[in-house]
Formats: sequence, structure tokens, C-alpha cells
Amino acid sequence: MTAANPAKYFDAAAVREDFPILKQEVNGHPLVYLDNAATTQKPEAVIEAIANYYRHDNANVHRGAHALSDRATRTFEAARETVARFLNSPAPQQVIWVRGVTEAVNLVANSWGRSNLGPGDRVLLPYLEHHSDIVPWQMICAAVGAQVEPIPVLDSGDIDLDALDAMLDESVKMVALNHVSNAIGTINPVKEIIEKAHAVGAKVLVDGAQAVAHWPIDVQALGCDFYAFSGHKLFGPTGIGVLWGREELLDAMPPFLGGGEMIETVSFAGTTFNTLPFKFEAGTPNIAGVIGLGAAIQYLDGIDREAAAAHELALLDYTLELAAEIPAIRRIGEPRSAAGIFSFLLEGCHPSDLGMLLDQQGIAVRTGHHCAQPLMERYGVPGTARASYSIYNTREDVDALFAGIRKAQALFS
Ligand code: PMP
Repeated sequence: MTAANPAKYFDAAAVREDFPILKQEVNGHPLVYLDNAATTQKPEAVIEAIANYYRHDNANVHRGAHALSDRATRTFEAARETVARFLNSPAPQQVIWVRGVTEAVNLVANSWGRSNLGPGDRVLLPYLEHHSDIVPWQMICAAVGAQVEPIPVLDSGDIDLDALDAMLDESVKMVALNHVSNAIGTINPVKEIIEKAHAVGAKVLVDGAQAVAHWPIDVQALGCDFYAFSGHKLFGPTGIGVLWGREELLDAMPPFLGGGEMIETVSFAGTTFNTLPFKFEAGTPNIAGVIGLGAAIQYLDGIDREAAAAHELALLDYTLELAAEIPAIRRIGEPRSAAGIFSFLLEGCHPSDLGMLLDQQGIAVRTGHHCAQPLMERYGVPGTARASYSIYNTREDVDALFAGIRKAQALFS
């Protein structure tokens, strides 16, 4: 192992073997998958866990008096404990199953927001938020007469902490922000922001969609009030995610969705609600999704996560090195601290044309506004091309990306 070759710290090529989808060709080229911020690929262990559930244990949970339901329920609740350990939650009942970050934010906005926000109250969101962190707050604030206010972002793509300081006072009831920007990769100083927000009595919701796959999360060390993530960005299935919350907050919050499972007793005279976490889990849950997510976290347990994070950052450094050789490339955002996300424009080539040309060479990137239109507006661009790295990407993938960019550049010049 040498510092000169950081790829050696971590055997991405071996990790790659665990992901069957990566072994294919696209348009006659080996697939180079660089769209991990949109969704990650799934290891064999996750695919097997889901198939195994449907082959052997398929039954509804918490209800049946039979063996299959008992097995399904045990695996389902074991996954909750796995997530609790993964987040360092004090207790498993603070882990609520949701469809993903989008549903988690809608849950908090509608349940906590409806009972805690009113006229004169303010909700602060940095300019670099994903639409799923913006729109639910706009909707609830419009309904209750509260205000959503954007926290300015510096040209670097870092949150303007001085501006935040100036905005914070006791009228601020919620600060909601992503841990890592999906659009430009900024790693936000969430712990510092949580301390600032708490000093004026505001609550903080952290959207961990782009953080959980890259380093371990400790909700107690962060001190946040809510933390949300989506399973599909963590090598797990789509349609499942987690809302973690402080127990006293979750306990005091009214249910979001009503239906089976979330009740204690129902009568036309009045209904009483179940305890945590079930109060927030109306209806038949995504059982296979939960089991797949549990398997994804167990898979990650077998990975040296510190080395994996260093590997991804080395890929970003290598990317920046290669980008510096192409003057026509303009990187959008240069945050102080960035995750393995490279958002850029190629002069003379529209991002969607670039995306198409790269796809012809088997290279998958994302193009567009990345569900962060206010940030794109902040930079005066309609969108960008984005390469985002994961544990199975290699320096060869970065080489392929730049070979592809040079080819596109030749076509458009
Ligand atoms: N926040 C961030 C930072 C994201 O990257 C995404 C997904 N692109 C979301 C929220 C929404 O996640 P989901 O669509 O899984 O609900």
C-alpha cells in the first residue's frame, strides 16, 4: 500500500464481483456505472435475501398465527434492529419504515409540522436542497401560515454559515438539510448546524440520502432530531427507506397515514393509536424491501468502510486531476469538503448530449437539474452532467469517463 496509489487501500475490483449487474456490456462496451447518487447497484446478497423471502417465507407480518408469518415477522424486525445499530439509534422503535427520504420528509412535515408550525414560524432550508426536502415544507407552511426561507450558499457550494447565523432566531422552528448535496457533492457541516439550530430551539431534520452509503452515521453523535435515508442508495431495494427520530418527538407526533397496523383500537366512537414504531406504519409494509435493506447493511458490515470512503475520495481526486487537463470542463461547485460526486459542464456540449454520447460508450452518468433547481438557478445553469462514485468504481472507470468526454469534445468542436 502506498499513498501514491490510493486505490490499493481498497480492493474495488473484488467488491465489483459481488454486483452481478456490473458484468454486462452496454452498447458494445463494458458497463461503467457512474450514476450512484441516483441509485446504487445491488450485491448478490441483497438479491438473494429478497428471493429467499419470496421463495420460503412470504407472509404478512405481525398478523398471522402461522409459521411463515412468524418467520417473516422475525426477519422484518431483525432488519429494524440492524438499521438501529447502523445509525447508533438508542432503540429500534425509533426506526420507522417509509418508502424513502421523500416519504420521510413528508411524514415529518405533515405530522410534526402540522402540530408545531404556525403563522410567524420559519423553516430554513439551504439553497442546495433536493426538491424532496423543499416541496413538503412549502406545502405544509402554505397550509399553516408559516414561511420557508432559503439559506444562502457560497460560490464554492458551501452553506453560508454567517448568513445562517444572521437568520437564526426563535422564530425558526425547523432547519432541514441534506448531509451531502446530491447535485454537487458538498458535505455539509451538519453537526455544527445542528448546534446552531438547537441554540435557538429549532429542530433539525438531516436528509442522509447521499451520506449513508459513504461513511458510518451516528445519530446520537450528530445530535439531530430526525435523520432520513433511502434504501436504494445504500445497495438495498427501491421503495424502502428509514425515518429515524428522537423518541420523545416521535411519541408526541400524530400519525401521518391512517389504516391497519397503526391502531390500538378502532371504534366509531373514536380510535386509539399504536405505539412506536407502528403508529407510523399504516398498512402492509414493504416486507421484501425491509429484508433487502437489512441484507444490504449486513453486506456493508463486511466492507472496510473507512478504506472504502478513502477509495471514493481518491477517485474524486483523480477525477479532478484529469478534469484539470481539459480547459473546456467547468466544475460546478468546489466545496471545502466533497463526497465522490463530480458535477460539471463541457463547453459547447449540452449535458444531455454529453450523457447520450457517454451512454453510447457504455458510460452511465446523470444529466439535468438533479432535483435541485434552486441550486442550478443559483449557479445560473439549467443543469449539469454528474458522475457519482461508489465502492465498486475503479480508476479505470474514471479513465473511461474522460476518454468518453474527450470523444464527445472532438465531436462537438
Ligand atoms: N435527498 C437527496 C439528497 C437525494 O439525492 C434524493 C434522491 N436523489 C432524495 C432526497 C430523494 O430520495 P428518494 O427519491 O429515494 O425518496
